[in-house]
Amino acid sequence: MSFDTLGLSAELLRAVADQGYSEPTPVQRQAIPVILEGRDMLAGAQTGTGKTAGFTLPLLQHLSTHPQQHKGRRPVRALILTPTRELAAQVAESVDTYGKHLPLSSMVIFGGVKINPQIQQLRRGVDILVATPGRLLDHASQKTLDLSAVEILVLDEADRMLDMGFLPDIRRILALLPKQRQNLLFSATYSSDIRRLADKLLDAPVQIEVARRNTAAELVSQVVHPVDRERKRELLSFMVGSQNWRQVLVFTRTKHGANRLSKQLEKDGISSAAIHGNKSQGARTRALADFKQGEVRVLVATDIAARGLDIDQLPHVVNYELPNVPEDYVHRIGRTGRAGNEGQAVSLVCVDEHKLLIDIERLLKRDLPRVVIPDYEPDPSIRAEPIQRRSNARAGGKPNARNGTGQQRGKRSGGGGSAAAKPRSGASASRGKPKNAAGANRSQKFSGNSRRRPASSGRA
Ligand code: AMP
Repeated sequence: MSFDTLGLSAELLRAVADQGYSEPTPVQRQAIPVILEGRDMLAGAQTGTGKTAGFTLPLLQHLSTHPQQHKGRRPVRALILTPTRELAAQVAESVDTYGKHLPLSSMVIFGGVKINPQIQQLRRGVDILVATPGRLLDHASQKTLDLSAVEILVLDEADRMLDMGFLPDIRRILALLPKQRQNLLFSATYSSDIRRLADKLLDAPVQIEVARRNTAAELVSQVVHPVDRERKRELLSFMVGSQNWRQVLVFTRTKHGANRLSKQLEKDGISSAAIHGNKSQGARTRALADFKQGEVRVLVATDIAARGLDIDQLPHVVNYELPNVPEDYVHRIGRTGRAGNEGQAVSLVCVDEHKLLIDIERLLKRDLPRVVIPDYEPDPSIRAEPIQRRSNARAGGKPNARNGTGQQRGKRSGGGGSAAAKPRSGASASRGKPKNAAGANRSQKFSGNSRRRPASSGRA
């Protein structure tokens, strides 16, 4: 099936062809015609399925074929809400990419950067606004933003927004929108909270589902390596070095753990950066850019910071520590095996984490293969230490979460990579590039937070 049959305009088909996409993904096949009909939609789709183009393409088509009614200043006609700054920036990038042959303007708004340039950009008029809830409400309360002409609302990664405690903010935003509008809700998982939100928000929605619910991406091969907690860092360095992994996303449970691991990897000669909510927006942007360009080999991230990162064809994801919430495992490994490319998800699991592993396997409805790496066999005399589990980890991080930077707070128990990890001779086979300092001068892609496109040069 080709994109031509979906009812998209020539300008959009051209933008899709520019990207090199030969055929629509399943979510695009299902979502695009429904959205073009103007129906509300509840879509079960994870990051990596092509969902962004799935809603962006028909949204652009609607706006370009239904000229705005308002005279004077351009009102916001489409609002896309995302849980994190990174996702907002990436969705905005997609809006730009797919809308490049159309005379529409778009803008991204998130916290952590100056508000005045955003105010000025809003004043000039914007058709499509991509935003995280906190900063959007700041603008609304300062009356620098008028949402009364929104025709299409998209809640992207709605499950994550609720996890992060954004429900009250979402309610406040909904109250600012006109009653008559099209609503699209995207969520990787369906909790009862999501169901309740969908019932309230959506009018006779068409429901589509692409990845089976709570099912890990099928192109991802998953393996568990049992290892002692104190030897995880050494094993990770060994795997990265000996298998010559060039681009690895590694998950830790805490910000502190991410920083510590990143520093230790650097000591092992593997270029590495940490990305989490305590880092400034500039530092996060730079780390992601360096990673994408292959200058940083290992990106160490916490769950929330990594959520929605659009990194194409990521070959390796490592769970340095298993997540406390089993669904996060599914989100994590969704970073790899994307858009038809095979990926590998490796979990380094110590004795403390057996319960977490069982919970994950229960969610996946299958056992993950255990492969012990020679020389890294777990010591059977080591006893499990309790891991502090938070039943509602992210909701607890509400103050930070407003700007999409909420982080989990609990402490790891020991966890890998402590100072006690002694490399065995020959085991730390790291051949990483030396630390790259050039990134400091790199232009910060996400810090310019507004964008405008020139008038259309496309065919009608
Ligand atoms: P998303 O799920 O929106 O984060 O998209 C995941 C990745 O798939 C992005 O890097 C897109 O550029 C890519 N993608 C989206 N649609 C297609 C398509 N039809 N063919 C190939 N790649 C695609």
